Amino acid sequence: MPSTPDDETDYLPCATPDPGRWQEVAPGVLWIRLSLPFQLDHINVWALDGGAAGWTLVDCGLGDPRTRAAWELLLRDALGGRPVERVVVTHFHPDHIGAAGWLVERTGASFAASLTEWLFARTLSAGSDAATDAAVERFYRRSGLEPEALAAVLGRKGAYGRGVPSVPATLTRLRVGDRLPVGDRLWTVIGGSGHTAEPVSLHRQADAAGPGLLISGDQILPRISPNISAWPTEPEADPLADYLASLAGWSALPAETLVLPSHGRPFRGLHARAGELARHHAERLAEIEALCATPQTAAAVTRALFPRPLDTHQTVFALGEAVAHLNHLIAKGRLERRAAGPGVDLYRRVDDTAAVTAR
Ligand SMILES: [Zn+2]
Repeated sequence: MPSTPDDETDYLPCATPDPGRWQEVAPGVLWIRLSLPFQLDHINVWALDGGAAGWTLVDCGLGDPRTRAAWELLLRDALGGRPVERVVVTHFHPDHIGAAGWLVERTGASFAASLTEWLFARTLSAGSDAATDAAVERFYRRSGLEPEALAAVLGRKGAYGRGVPSVPATLTRLRVGDRLPVGDRLWTVIGGSGHTAEPVSLHRQADAAGPGLLISGDQILPRISPNISAWPTEPEADPLADYLASLAGWSALPAETLVLPSHGRPFRGLHARAGELARHHAERLAEIEALCATPQTAAAVTRALFPRPLDTHQTVFALGEAVAHLNHLIAKGRLERRAAGPGVDLYRRVDDTAAVTAR
């Protein structure tokens, strides 16, 4: 994952809140930090002051006791014990939606997300079945993972439900272009795709009272590249095509927009960052295409892209990222996938000369 030198990113000049604490980043907009028990050790969530109607919270943290305890104090101190009107989640990943079921029950807030993200969360939190388990095993087996890594990855079964013990049963559906009133300000729902299928971001235009704001979820982040993965339930998906189209879409927002990302620090430089991320993926694609001059398994491509030791959680995301890039190259006609040996896939560069001769 590429790092952006700090001097190229214009971070908001304010202190980063400690876990469970908050910082006002614009009038009525609180930046709250919550802990995560991963190498990525935090998530940013946002509280928008809607005055008498109550707060709008954007993202929730994991559904674990530590997060619930942090929220109890935040509801009292950061939000001053005032009501919570709605809980919005940007996408279905456990660090964003995990505590939503509890938070909605605890506060009486409504729950808002896109239909796809809500359905994903409902489906995954309901647990697996034999057919899904078989699809998962097939996906990782075909990738050519070593037996030990394969066993560890398959042993993660149920990880989603542990981070997301409940998902709200009723939805206020968000669609691209919807306007959410928060106090006397309007936030517009922005779409996109790639990190997940139908994430939402929220944009508020600049006005006399403050700068333009974008709550970006994981669709655009400073310093780290959002994970773009193909998953066992849709093994031939090309989410990278969706993501690259989404990156291009940020040019529709003003360049000076203050971006409030789910990880890292608030920053300005939306267009520059989108350009960096697009270049990162272009470099990755070129690297993989060169590598596949000799046939490769997805696991071998993963090791080449991520040479440092990976734990099981990281292996899943790294392998998914490799397969997403391989699928994109197949969709572009640059690679082909062939079954080889006992159920392992090999990816090979399409030889331009051979293709021309065959025509
Ligand atoms: Zn995410």
